[in-house]
Amino acid sequence: MSKKQILITGAASGIGQGIAFFLAKNGHHIIVSDMNLEHAQKSVNEIIQHGGSAQAVKLNVTSSEDVNNLVAALNKPIDVLINNAGIQHVESLDSFPMDKWDFLIQVMLVGVARLTQAVLPGMKSQNFGRVINIGSLHALVASPYKSAYIAAKHGLLGFSKAIALEIAENNITINTLCPAYVLTPLVEKQIAAQAKEHNISQEMVINDIMLKPMPKKAFIEIDELAASCEFLISDFSKNITAQAIALDGGWTAQ
Ligand code: NAD
Repeated sequence: MSKKQILITGAASGIGQGIAFFLAKNGHHIIVSDMNLEHAQKSVNEIIQHGGSAQAVKLNVTSSEDVNNLVAALNKPIDVLINNAGIQHVESLDSFPMDKWDFLIQVMLVGVARLTQAVLPGMKSQNFGRVINIGSLHALVASPYKSAYIAAKHGLLGFSKAIALEIAENNITINTLCPAYVLTPLVEKQIAAQAKEHNISQEMVINDIMLKPMPKKAFIEIDELAASCEFLISDFSKNITAQAIALDGGWTAQ
């Protein structure tokens, strides 16, 4: 496969960082973007130390200015966009602050539309493009107290279906990976918070809350997501579009 120029949002930590490392190892050029430029630069330094090719960019997905600056600075179109940036807030709707609710939608749904809109003209001009959203198991099913996150992630699937139809005549696809829990800083914070809230050990949160609904009883590994991205980038997947691809250990089969 030819090597691609890949833009990943929220790539300074967790899943985005892990996907960046994996795809850089496979020879692709990675634009490691994040609202935290210092951490993005650390990821890039690590990629370069291992012989890979990468650059760090400060990009807040809620900022049209950041997105426009990035696109204006490109010397060739983005081949692959991985919409990964995400945040969580866990609270009953009764007390969920509406500005927080709106912000989660801005980051994980409007931000995805903003980035996709910015890169599609370049993809169309070269008749190649892949948009991969990091959705969630919560794009497919719900859990209580995560209404904004779940609305944003469910919305991603509708967005992707509409865009897949708009771009169907080009060699461009858009798909959403839907993982169950992946052990990243985002989830580590949830484990600590739930242990405190329920007054139980972190081990009990992992086994009795997080992994309980999952038949395979294991966290999804970042490399499973990264390898799925590599497959979606390849020519073998050129007719896979508008799909939600679950990596959920059987969770949604129940
Ligand atoms: P993480 O907290 O480790 O990393 C998220 C990254 O996104 C951080 O580097 C952060 O700086 C960045 N970010 C946050 N807001 C941003 C913004 N406005 N603009 C640009 N960057 C921003 O989280 P993670 O667990 O790696 O999550 C990555 C994605 O995977 C998210 O979309 C999340 O919903 C999804 N996901 C995670 C899990 C899991 O179990 N960890 C499961 C399913 C889906």
